[in-house]
Amino acid sequence: MKPSFTHVFLKSYFPGIFEKSIHRINETTLFMVHDKQKDVLIVIGDLLDFEGEKQNKDNFKYYEIELSSHTAHRLRSLFSFTKPIRVLRKPRSFGLGDRLGIAGEGHLKVFENVDAYPVLAQQSMRELHMTKRTYQDVLDQATFAVFKMGYKDGFGADGDHLKTIPDIKNALDLGYTMITLDCSDYIKTFDDSINTFELPDIIKKSFLNRIFFVGQHKVVFSLNQLRKAYYVYQEALHYTKKVYDTFFNNKTYDADFELSIDETHIPTTPEDHVFVAHQLSLMGVKIDTLAPRFCGEFQKGIDYIGSVEDFEKELKIHADIAKTYGYKLSIHSGSDKFSIFKSIGVLTKGQFHVKTAGTNWLEAMRLIATVEPKLYREIHAFALDSFEQANKLYHVTTNLNNIPKIDTLKDEELPLLFDHNDARQLIHITYGYILNAEDKDGFRFKNKLYKLWHEHHSLYAEMLEKHIGKHLKFLYEGIKKKEMNL
Ligand SMILES: [Zn+2]
Repeated sequence: MKPSFTHVFLKSYFPGIFEKSIHRINETTLFMVHDKQKDVLIVIGDLLDFEGEKQNKDNFKYYEIELSSHTAHRLRSLFSFTKPIRVLRKPRSFGLGDRLGIAGEGHLKVFENVDAYPVLAQQSMRELHMTKRTYQDVLDQATFAVFKMGYKDGFGADGDHLKTIPDIKNALDLGYTMITLDCSDYIKTFDDSINTFELPDIIKKSFLNRIFFVGQHKVVFSLNQLRKAYYVYQEALHYTKKVYDTFFNNKTYDADFELSIDETHIPTTPEDHVFVAHQLSLMGVKIDTLAPRFCGEFQKGIDYIGSVEDFEKELKIHADIAKTYGYKLSIHSGSDKFSIFKSIGVLTKGQFHVKTAGTNWLEAMRLIATVEPKLYREIHAFALDSFEQANKLYHVTTNLNNIPKIDTLKDEELPLLFDHNDARQLIHITYGYILNAEDKDGFRFKNKLYKLWHEHHSLYAEMLEKHIGKHLKFLYEGIKKKEMNL
């Protein structure tokens, strides 16, 4: 893009101006500037109810406005593109949990060039707890990112893996446009000793002695399969209906509803999926996406572990079931699952929601290893010390012995640790510990890290563009042209 006259003129006063952030309302010009300490909004003309101090630079008058929650709120009321929209009913959507609130610039560079809708604000309660952030802040950072990048195509906001009615209400009241209900607390574990209960007649009548046609597949329930599905999911389905009736049924909120049944140990069988889908439809519950638990392992920050062939077989059936019942499949823990992205694009016929979360944190740490090796070494040692504790919260098969001893590495070799699965997982699962570590002066790493990320924002954006771009490239690889505009 050729720089405009306005841009050239403004750049002479504000060298850190984000060119695409220049917007106008009547006689007032607004834009964002990268300043030494932090980004700020500049308003020339009417203050438009923002809160800011009048500045005067060589007789050039303007307001400098802090990127507060009030500012985000004002931007959302002035510029509709800075408000989240519902994206799950679009053919392709992609979740990008921006843990640190700094990844928007890089993420949007990717989504400028693909037709998938980004979910820029996407955090779970666990993530918020680890990063000490709030849903308000997460949404505000997404608003600032789209304004800064002039991204007008629409983005989603996901209250991710929420379990309780108050948490869901909180996210929806703030304007989140999708909720992912994690009903794992209500999903029961079945074993063969559980055979003493009698199935209700209505369940037998709905599922036995019939064929469920889903795409090219036929699903038929044996009595045992039905008992298992009923035992495992029935309570979760009742809870799902309660949530649906509370927030979605009467359209109180303009938001999408995703159901996640993936946080379990045992893969969702086709029978399980049909049971859930069919029961939901009988209960009158409409969902927009469903996340089954697939075979194989979706560990944090590394590629898929398991048989790709088995995954493809399962995915095909799950995609057909989802299509039959009128929703999209959602694939969780999608960070870095490069060996299955193409299959996901192809077998869902280009209709998917894929969620990623921690991979942008890993890129942020790769950046630290690149620009501040000394600090990275300190953090790496700290992460090793915190690993045992962090490991209790995650299912990962990290082997610390596989990680090269950091003292044997030269500074320029440090970023290569992020191409190494065990080192990736070490840094991935200890993020909360790293961010919250304290010494006598306060946070031990957090403020230094944010300062460096701010200083090197362009490099971070480039790294994310490359890394997340690779996710999208693989996902789109096998999608046929005719499927693009379904
Ligand atoms: Zn999940």
